[in-house]
This record gives sequence, structure tokens and C-alpha cells, in this order.
Amino acid sequence: MDKRKTVIHWFRKGLRIHDNPGLIAAIEAVQKNKDHVLRPIYILDPEWTQFWRMSANKWRFLQQSLVQLDENLKTLNTRLYVIRGTPKNEMPRIFKEWNVTLMTFESEIESFNQRRDALVKIHAGQHNVKLDEFHSHTVYNPHLVLQSNNNQVPMRYQSFISLVEHKKVAPALEITSKHKLKKEHQAPKDSKEEAKASCYDLPELSELPLNETELGPNKFPGGEKEGLDRMEKMLSRKKWIWEFEKPNTAPNSIEPSTTVLSPYITFGCLSSRLFYHKLKAVLSKASKYSKPPVSLMGQLMWREFYYTAAAAEPNFDKMVGNRICRQIPWQYDADLLDAWAHGRTGYPFIDAIMRQLRQEGWIHHLARHAVACFLTRGDLYVSWEHGQHVFEELLLDADWALNAGNWMWLSASAFFYQYFRVYSPVAFGKKTDPYGNYIRKYCPELKDYPSHLIYEPWKASAGEQRRYKCEIGKDYPNRIVVHEMVQDFNKGRMKRAYEVHNGQREEGEPSPKVFIKEERHRPFIKVEPKEEPADNDEDPENVC
Ligand code: FAD
Repeated sequence: MDKRKTVIHWFRKGLRIHDNPGLIAAIEAVQKNKDHVLRPIYILDPEWTQFWRMSANKWRFLQQSLVQLDENLKTLNTRLYVIRGTPKNEMPRIFKEWNVTLMTFESEIESFNQRRDALVKIHAGQHNVKLDEFHSHTVYNPHLVLQSNNNQVPMRYQSFISLVEHKKVAPALEITSKHKLKKEHQAPKDSKEEAKASCYDLPELSELPLNETELGPNKFPGGEKEGLDRMEKMLSRKKWIWEFEKPNTAPNSIEPSTTVLSPYITFGCLSSRLFYHKLKAVLSKASKYSKPPVSLMGQLMWREFYYTAAAAEPNFDKMVGNRICRQIPWQYDADLLDAWAHGRTGYPFIDAIMRQLRQEGWIHHLARHAVACFLTRGDLYVSWEHGQHVFEELLLDADWALNAGNWMWLSASAFFYQYFRVYSPVAFGKKTDPYGNYIRKYCPELKDYPSHLIYEPWKASAGEQRRYKCEIGKDYPNRIVVHEMVQDFNKGRMKRAYEVHNGQREEGEPSPKVFIKEERHRPFIKVEPKEEPADNDEDPENVC
């Protein structure tokens, strides 16, 4: 075994070599010491899925990102060591076997990751390993932002912007030829001893705990190069960037109408700080450009906003015990949840979105609005926590802070309070896709329906349904709730929950669950739609 000392950079998120302060610090530490080698590691932790749900698509994205990371590390004359096992067992072993003196890593705010890190810190102390932690997953360090606000969570986007607008953002770090390792600093990965430990190799997809039949089209392949290329492609559309306003992008275009940088930023294949600086440079070339919250920079700031709030609340992903979340007596119904999660609600716009999510792992932000509102306060009155779990599993960009923060927003549990403004599962989608192309793609059983019926196929007569080769209740589900009725009922429930929250009413109102259940099992009835309330896109506080 090699007797030289080791410096480790532990990749968790941050799967990149560009703008990676922890990696650069590790490289520089090694270069300063003649008898030190670098070993960049990734730990495939079998216990991880106890805390974090992973779809097949997401495993593939991770596996592709690790392969690209290894390729990129080769350009620095090093390799990625992928270790199988739990950090609490593997860290003490490698600290000893590799004679580790220093380990660098990116800090994470999720409570389960913090618990893991607390154990690793104990082991590091016992083995005299110095730890160096870097805040490089966000543009701002959320803990410093909180400190600058007397450790109070800024509950409004605008208050957050006021806190950070004059803060200087350090430049993104470049990785250059000076970071290439000389032979003396390279770990002998190919030596006999280390080759024997073949458990350090990159994982094949077949090794990962996924069902390959659940893989969808590889629309957004993982990796640093993919992330950087995608960012450059987006930034080259200067006029589009200058004029970008989120409410004017379509939730149901066949090709994405926003950047789809989110999976890359989430896994850290792309540095949010690099994106911030590049975006600023593009904006500086225009005399006039859109502004937060609706601009592209505004979108990146939503991410910072939620990270800051999440950093202050260990129970950010839960309702009970979460200091910023309103306690709402949601009603669990496994059948309703299952129908929603699998795109079988009988509302084609909602079902198309949920099917796109399951197949491709990404959906537009306003599509997320529509389905999140539908599951919670709008229609099904199921807790946002269940929706969050489904998104966590299926979204390539699933992120602890952003997922919970946005779910709380949409369910009017925190940040947003206009619970009476409900998205229509019919009218909202029609605005940007009147012909229903999006529905035809993701709910192909409805493809022969004419445009005036495709959002409301239950309105077709029995004869028409047969002619369009899709009978409602047989080939496509009946609506599981009647939106026109439940939305008013749910607004009443939300009103009562808010009154209890504000101390204007005692808890213990009679359970209103009868309504939804009866509607669901009642034979289909035609209800004349009432005029739908306007979507709340124009309200800047709701355009997240
Ligand atoms: P763009 O519009 O191109 O924006 C650029 C970047 O800004 C995004 O990549 C993302 O990093 C950030 N961003 C944009 N909108 C938001 C937002 N509202 N909140 C925070 N950051 C934002 N985003 C995630 O990255 N992970 C999640 O787990 C997640 N869960 C969500 C759950 C719900 C219920 C809702 C309503 C939104 C959620 N979002 C989440 C936020 C948002 O929908 C996505 O970030 C965005 O759609 C990603 O697509 P894009 O990269 O094309 O975004």
C-alpha cells in the first residue's frame, strides 16, 4: 500500500470541476506538500434512499454525471474513487488506510445530510483529519444572509432581495493547467493493490437500485459538460434573456420554454455562481431588461430565497414542527393521491403534466403550480408533503429546499396566503395551448378529441366518445372530483384553517371529507362550469 499521505475531496452534490472551491483547495493543499496525493471520492451510500427518493431517471442522471466527472478529473491527472458503503463505516476505514490528513467538501443544508456530516466530523476528529467545508451550492451563503437579518427568516421575496442586492458575489473560480497534478501527487489507482479494490470503480447503471423499464427518454443527460453546454446555448439567446418573464413562458409547450438548467444546478454539474456571473454579463449588454421576480436572474434569486429560509428550519420539508408552515388539517386519501401521482385524475391537463413528469423527469414551473394547487388547496385537499414526496422521487432537479419551499407556497402553507386564488385545471392550460397538443402527446388516448373538448372530454356525448376512440370511464378515467364544486368547498376549509391559525377560531371543526368522497363515487354528473377565477400570474409575489 502507498505510504504517502492523502488529501480527499468528497463530492456529494457539486459534481463538477469548474468553480469548485473545495476541489481547488484540496488540489492546492496537495501541491504544497511533496509527500501528499489527491483522492477525489464519491460515496454510493446504500442508506441514502432512506432519506431521499430516487426514480430510475434520476439514478441515470447521477450515473452519467459521475462518468463525466471522472472524465473531467482525468484532465487534472486524477480519477474519481466511487466508494460503496455508508460514510459512517467507510470514512474511518479510508482515513486510516489512506493516511488522510485533510478532507474538503461542499456544505449541505438538508437535515439528514447534516446528521451524516456530524458523524463524519467525529470520525475525522478521531483520526486527526482536518475538515474544510465550502459554501458553493448557492450564490450566497444562506447562513450569512440569515445573520445579516438578525437570524430572522425573510418571509417575502422582496425582503430577501433587499438583503442581498448590495452583497458582492465573489467571482467563479477557474480551473486551469496549474491545477494539473504532477506524477508525485497522483494516487496509484492503477497499482495492483488498488486495482484489487475494484469497488472504487464507476457504477454501471445495472448496479444501481433502479428498474430499467421505468427509464424514460434521455432528454436531459447528466453531467458537467451537458450543464455547461446548455447554459452557453441559453445565454447565446440574448434577446430572449433580456426579455425573459416567467409568466410569459408556457407550461405546456412540447419543447421547454425555460432553460432546464435546474437538474444541472441541483446536482451541482453547473455552478449557480458561474451562471449568475454569466447572466449578469449578458444583462449588462442591454439598456433595458426584465427585472426580478419574473426575470431569469429573478428565478435564480427564488432559489437563493428558499435556500435561506430552509437553512433556518430543520423541519422545512414537514408540516408538523416546521415553524414557518401553517398547520392545515389536510385529508389523506390514498386513491386520490395515487390517481394524481399517476396521471389518472380525469383532467387531461393535470394528467398530461404528471405523465410528462414520470416519463421525462422535468416539468415547467407553471405546470408544477397547476398540479400542486390541484393536489392541495384547489381540488383534492391532500397534504403538500405527499406531493413533495412524489416530486422528490420523479424530478431530476428535486431539491430539499426548493421542493418543500415551493410546495408550501403553492398550498398556501407559507410565503403565499391568497388561498382563494385557485388554478383551473381546464382554463389555465388552454391559454397557451388551445389546440391541446401537449395533452395529445402525453395522453395519447385522447388524441382524436377536437380542441373544444380535449380539456373537458367528459363533455363529449357517448356517441362522440366512441367516434373519438376513447370512452370516458373506460379508456380514460372519469374526473375524480368536480372542480367547480370542490374548489369552493376547499376555499371554505382553507378559510377555517387560516382562522384557526390566526387564533380567530377554535380547532375541531366538523370533518368535511364526506363531500369529496361522495363526489368521487357518485355516477358522473354534468355540471355547468362557473366562470373560473383569473390565474394569479400577474401578481409578482405569485410568479415564482
Ligand atoms: P428557469 O425558469 O430557467 O430558471 C433558472 C433557474 O432558476 C432554475 O434552474 C432554478 O435553479 C431556479 N428557479 C427557477 N424557478 C425557481 C423557483 N420557483 N424556486 C426556486 N428556484 C427556481 N426547482 C428545483 O430546482 N427543484 C425542486 O425540487 C423544485 N420543486 C418545485 C416544486 C413545486 C411545487 C414548484 C411549484 C416549483 C418547484 N421548483 C423546483 C421550482 C421551479 O419550478 C424549477 O426550478 C424550474 O421550473 C426549473 O426549470 P428551469 O431550469 O427551466 O427554470
